[in-house]
Amino acid sequence: MSDLASTLTDEHLQILKDAALDFCLSHGLVVRTPFSNDPTALAGGVINAPVSLFPTPFPANAYKDAIKIQPLYNQLVHDISQDDAFLKEIMENLSTVDDFVKRLYDLYLVVKKEGIAQPASLGIHRSDYIIHLNQGQDFSDAKIKQVELNTIAVSFGSLSSLTADLHRYLTTTTGYFTDKLDISAIPNSGSIESVASGLASAHLHYGSKTAKVMMVVQPGERNAFDQRWIEYNLLKNHGIVLIRKTLAEVADHGRLDPKTKALYIDDQEVSVAYYRSAYATTDYPTEKEWDGRLLAERSLAIKCPTIAYQLVGAKKVQQVLAAPGQLERFVKDPESAAQLRTSFTGLYPLDSSPEGVAAYEAALVNSEDLVMKPQREGGGNNIYGKDIQSTLKTLTVEQRNAYILMDIIRPPITKNVLLRMGELQRADVVSELGVYGIYLHDGQKAIRNDNGGHLLRTKGVESNEGGVAAGFAVIDSILLV
Ligand code: ADP
Ligand code: MG
Ligand code: MG
Repeated sequence: MSDLASTLTDEHLQILKDAALDFCLSHGLVVRTPFSNDPTALAGGVINAPVSLFPTPFPANAYKDAIKIQPLYNQLVHDISQDDAFLKEIMENLSTVDDFVKRLYDLYLVVKKEGIAQPASLGIHRSDYIIHLNQGQDFSDAKIKQVELNTIAVSFGSLSSLTADLHRYLTTTTGYFTDKLDISAIPNSGSIESVASGLASAHLHYGSKTAKVMMVVQPGERNAFDQRWIEYNLLKNHGIVLIRKTLAEVADHGRLDPKTKALYIDDQEVSVAYYRSAYATTDYPTEKEWDGRLLAERSLAIKCPTIAYQLVGAKKVQQVLAAPGQLERFVKDPESAAQLRTSFTGLYPLDSSPEGVAAYEAALVNSEDLVMKPQREGGGNNIYGKDIQSTLKTLTVEQRNAYILMDIIRPPITKNVLLRMGELQRADVVSELGVYGIYLHDGQKAIRNDNGGHLLRTKGVESNEGGVAAGFAVIDSILLV
């Protein structure tokens, strides 16, 4: 495969870097600098979002497969969210060993018992894949393998679209790659527009002209510009205003209309509660944040996601679905089920079942090709290699149940130049594709089930984890080959 970096001299790199930095700053392809809560820093405290300098080759067939199955995943999330018994079995088990899952599941139970005020639900998901190549296979024959399915607070829809623009710009203006890179092979993601249009569809379905969409944000969010682009797009293309509130502000300023259960923040009615927070333990430092979540969940506002969708995104659910016959309980069409299954890699329980005990014993012998995952989101939570063995030895059978095991997916290595905090770095890299899904269900039927564009994140081969916000990866774009 062609190495786009190999012919670049240091002088080329300097020119690319200057052009890239200005493009990032001009186009809002930025994040806040750390610790920039004082007013002067808020006025100018931004740096370039971590990006690659040029797109990464990605097999066209694998990309097509990922796009094609996204509506199946969207539907699957919804169908599982409606299966109370299925969720109950998984969540009750997890609740005995994972306090955070227990809190989320308890909230689900409370709301369910009270009666769900809002029958509609909005999903803005992202299914993440790494490509896998069998030995001797051609790059173009690589197949997608799912890393995980995110159902809450998926990010980088906006910055990923801007990164593709950056790559087209650098290629066209410098001419450095024109013999190797055809910009028409960089697919348009359109994820800014699709996320905004998903919110707009839910807002219209809610049916109040004066209500606003509420984005539930983390205090001091550094990735605020990825979010702002959605707000600006929602206003420009749909004429809908979005307000930003933290969970604590929802608790302090929120109330429900006693009759309709409509959610008001002060005097402002909320049509859609869109979470870009509320997925990590750190999002709930006190009981107040839980109060805010409960208030919103009880309300008539359309939730993106509902607590049930959030639970479906648990890694344990992903592992259970991979067991024989489980996925097929939800996906009745055999061809669709087969398409989804092709994207699964090996997933193993760590419970007291015979499969769980076998997986545990096998991992104690060899854990080099495994990753061990707790029920957490946001990067930096997984356990790799020898650490799996030492961790397993400290856990009781019950405690092991809080985790799953998964085969490591080892993608082909490519080369790129990464631009992070204003610094360039040539690197051997691997990439992870994310495909956004937009899904709106009115309680009776799906009224939207769409693909919502894509994201490519790229990281140095030496790093186990891939989160951009967590500091491991950069935002990239795809060059179809
Ligand atoms: P999170 O919800 O915290 O993002 P992930 O399951 O996505 O958890 O894991 C975080 C990162 O760890 C991924 O982005 C990827 O880089 C790496 N990773 C996770 N699972 C695998 C796997 N099966 N094979 C290779 N890398 C993996
Ligand atoms: Mg995740
Ligand atoms: Mg992830």
